[in-house]
Amino acid sequence: MISLSNITKIYSSPNGDVKAVDQINLRIKKGEIFGIIGYSGAGKSTLIRLLNGLEKPTSGSIEIGGIRIDEIKGEKLRKARQEISMIFQHFNLLWSRTIEENISFPLEIAGVEKKERIKRVRELIKLVGLEGREKAYPSQLSGGQKQRVGIARALANNPKVLLCDEATSALDPQTTDSILDLLVDINERLGLTIVLITHEMHVIRKICHRVAVMENGRIVEEGEVLNVFRHP
Ligand code: ADP
Ligand code: ADP
Repeated sequence: MISLSNITKIYSSPNGDVKAVDQINLRIKKGEIFGIIGYSGAGKSTLIRLLNGLEKPTSGSIEIGGIRIDEIKGEKLRKARQEISMIFQHFNLLWSRTIEENISFPLEIAGVEKKERIKRVRELIKLVGLEGREKAYPSQLSGGQKQRVGIARALANNPKVLLCDEATSALDPQTTDSILDLLVDINERLGLTIVLITHEMHVIRKICHRVAVMENGRIVEEGEVLNVFRHP
């Protein structure tokens, strides 16, 4: 499903070049929940932005669902990115729009007609358990509810891959668990491939099938979660 070959990303800065990602090779299978863990500065965000086509690698190739995401741009990249959606630590919701308008937004951008949008938004609201909150604004919701909106919006156009960028890092432990349960439910029900980055071991242990540990732009360990993080 996802294949990264010899990916290197170098940022040029006034203080010299920074190698954020260094010769990474990775295969992620369809339907897998794959975790990438590492300390701050390890290169996780850069890796996820490369997967999302927001950044281009300095060298190497990235294939997602048969598309060379590192090679395309413009309209082709825009189309491909509908299949690769993302949720964020701070949710990135539109604060002046209601919950249903937030969820409908990517459907409008994709040119889905109104009747179909209304139907789809209703399904998504139900999927993430926000019935009754359709007309509320993000500021009226708890953190966990905001992330449910983020998830519904991310799923609107039926993506093949969901990228999660520290999606539970702003939430308390209990809310974190409820969001992780929802992600597992979506993974199982829709067969969606999920790639998540986190600095929290708990997140990896709770929902990931496989994990890669990043350090200084490199993958230093990779495998089944049970093997990589064996309880002593
Ligand atoms: P993580 O998400 O694991 O914290 P990042 O991918 O954000 O790691 O950062 C990896 C390295 O790349 C860090 O040294 C960071 O300072 C550097 N970096 C990230 N983004 C940029 C950028 N846009 N310009 C220059 N350096 C960057
Ligand atoms: P959280 O408390 O869930 O972390 P924040 O309140 O920090 O969320 O908001 C996340 C992002 O949204 C920030 O970049 C913030 O500036 C922006 N934001 C928050 N409230 C509003 C608002 N009413 N209108 C526009 N942007 C907002």
